[in-house]
Amino acid sequence: QEVNKLVQNFPLPYEKIINFWKTDIAYLKGVGPKKAKLLKKHLNVHTFEDIVLLFPRRYKNRKLGDVNEIYSYAMAQKEVGFVGKITKLKKTPKYWEAQFSIKNSNRAIRLMWFKLPNFILDKINDNKNKQFFAVGKVTYFNKNFTITHPELYVLNTNSDVNKYLGIFPVYHSNQKLTSAGISSKAISNIISNLFSPNNEPYFFEIIPEDILEEFDILPWKEALYKIHFPKNPEEYTKAIERFKFEEIFLLQILLQRRKKIIKSKHKAYPCEIVGDKFYEFYEKYLPFELTNAQKRVIKEIRRDMKKSEPMSRLLQGDVGSGKTMVALLASLIAIDNGLQVAIMAPTEILAEQHYKKFTELLWQLGINIKLLTGSVKQKQKKEIKNLLKLGVVNIIIGTHALIQDSVEFKKLGLVVIDEQHKFGVLQRSMLERKGVDVKPHTLYMTATPIPRTLALNFYGDLDVSIINEMPPGRKPVKTFVRTEAFRLRVYGFIREELKKGGQVYVVYPLIEESEKLDLKSAIQGYEDLRNYFKEFKVGLVHGKMKPAEKEQIMQQFKENKIQILVSTTVIEVGVDVPNANIIVIEEAHRFGLSQLHQLRGRVGRGDKQAYAILMVPNKVGDEAKQRLQSMEKITDGFKLAEIDLQIRGPGDFLGTKQSGLPEFKYVDFVADRIIFEKARDAASEIIAEEETLESHPYLGKFIADYVKKYNLEHLTP
Ligand code: ADP
Ligand code: MG
Repeated sequence: QEVNKLVQNFPLPYEKIINFWKTDIAYLKGVGPKKAKLLKKHLNVHTFEDIVLLFPRRYKNRKLGDVNEIYSYAMAQKEVGFVGKITKLKKTPKYWEAQFSIKNSNRAIRLMWFKLPNFILDKINDNKNKQFFAVGKVTYFNKNFTITHPELYVLNTNSDVNKYLGIFPVYHSNQKLTSAGISSKAISNIISNLFSPNNEPYFFEIIPEDILEEFDILPWKEALYKIHFPKNPEEYTKAIERFKFEEIFLLQILLQRRKKIIKSKHKAYPCEIVGDKFYEFYEKYLPFELTNAQKRVIKEIRRDMKKSEPMSRLLQGDVGSGKTMVALLASLIAIDNGLQVAIMAPTEILAEQHYKKFTELLWQLGINIKLLTGSVKQKQKKEIKNLLKLGVVNIIIGTHALIQDSVEFKKLGLVVIDEQHKFGVLQRSMLERKGVDVKPHTLYMTATPIPRTLALNFYGDLDVSIINEMPPGRKPVKTFVRTEAFRLRVYGFIREELKKGGQVYVVYPLIEESEKLDLKSAIQGYEDLRNYFKEFKVGLVHGKMKPAEKEQIMQQFKENKIQILVSTTVIEVGVDVPNANIIVIEEAHRFGLSQLHQLRGRVGRGDKQAYAILMVPNKVGDEAKQRLQSMEKITDGFKLAEIDLQIRGPGDFLGTKQSGLPEFKYVDFVADRIIFEKARDAASEIIAEEETLESHPYLGKFIADYVKKYNLEHLTP
């Protein structure tokens, strides 16, 4: 059957096409009510659409073997076929075996069955003098080249063998289906009926033709045909690419359309100049040379802030990669353009830390910086708010207190949200609204590395920058996985390090269903450590404590009044205690690699060699152990995130169902990076031209259906 490229002179209305694909499978030629019932029950195939999208489980490539190569076939356990005659058949107590004399050679191989079905036995007996084509994996077994449970075809003519050679799809099937005549082959025949010339007009195309051409993507019909009837492996590989592409393309159309509409609705203050403060700081006070990655990211931010549409940029960088300096330089750009800056951190400690750093670095420039957190006194708060409104304060740094309604700005130009994953979406958008009639430029910063493919989809309405380089001289944290049996040795090591003046974090995992249990094990651990390390001070923080209490303990740890800090909850992200050089993570197998990496980043901020010790039970499984051992070798957070993604899937990053994304059927977030980029570029071409999709009616309607099908209303503008 020839496949024509989609040429439609008289395109059908969309609704008519959809109705065709929604037709009950019983009405397809070769099906009928009886088979339809089985298809529905066993394969969940109800409609024409379902069956055309029932992709083969795998493909078989039947090749004619060369008997002189049989040794190498057996070594590789290769699947090949031979033409020959069955010259002897016998039954032993354990199996059936046949001697199979290969045509045009004086060699024979053995065919073997542990269970020989009657229909095969009959086939052999009924065709005693005929040639057979026997296909299967060649092995060397009991001193014989052997094919066990071969496929066996009777050949009536010499050229008969050709019809069994080549690529064949294998569809899901089972005993019930096969005995009702719905074998894999039968499914293939049914599908071929869909491709009859009469149905040609129903093979519609939602992706514009020029996009298909530009990105070298197969049209829908051609791709479907090559999935079901490929001539060679390249054909189906190319065909499946179309479906991966489409999957990402549709989502990207939605995300980018939303982004464009939001951007066009809101204005921002353009930061046209890079001015005095920026240059003065850069030349006189910059405490170190920027890394190349920092420079690149600053340029990206600078390019965004120049525009009169608001920046929405996500800055990802490993813990310690120097995001704060990027935020500071971006702030200077805003200030040089007469604008105010708000910096929001998830905890008071972090806010204070930023406040100190910014003040230290910027005081010579005469920049007015204020801290606004929950613990600032009412009177002082009022005053700060006043100064903000008057525009006297250049940079305000704070916690969620910042998003309270009574905080007003004169001219808010830039919002920086540190550790953005700690904030809910709602909090994020409230601060963004603070810009009076314009929206501020917004920079989201996160140390949770999210693989790019995922970030572009999850945060599709954000632009993404990545700092993929650490400041020079950073020593990697030495990481060890240790079982319970090593606990005393681990403690011995900790004591040595403590004696040298180091400090230690001990972290217990948070399991949401049983917070009580965690608390119990953490308290137990805390007591044990106190007993064991009598000469040192041990502290405990946990989720049930009041924030003020927690912060007090953290503060003591920062000041080295506590040497060992036990915590249940993940330690306050971003907290900088350079003197801490060991982190012990209990029950490490319960964490994702990204989380572990995040935790590991708590140490290694000072001059001392730092260590992360991942404790696991003695009986932890091999797979878990292997996963954890990649922590010993890999220091790059993005690489670890990709391994996580591969092992645990995207749910782990996106908070399972909360992601608000459709399920992905074809695409692999790790392997299909290039297709991701293509699909994204394709979508942006279309959206750049016309976000209404009016000139692509099929696509527009299909997208509307897609939104309904997957409940993606939140992605529509
Ligand atoms: P994070 O990205 O985790 O927020 P920080 O901004 O806190 O990282 O930076 C970590 C440490 O590295 C800080 O002490 C900071 O001063 C230092 N730092 C940042 N950039 C550089 C650089 N280019 N060269 C040397 N040190 C740097
Ligand atoms: Mg930080």
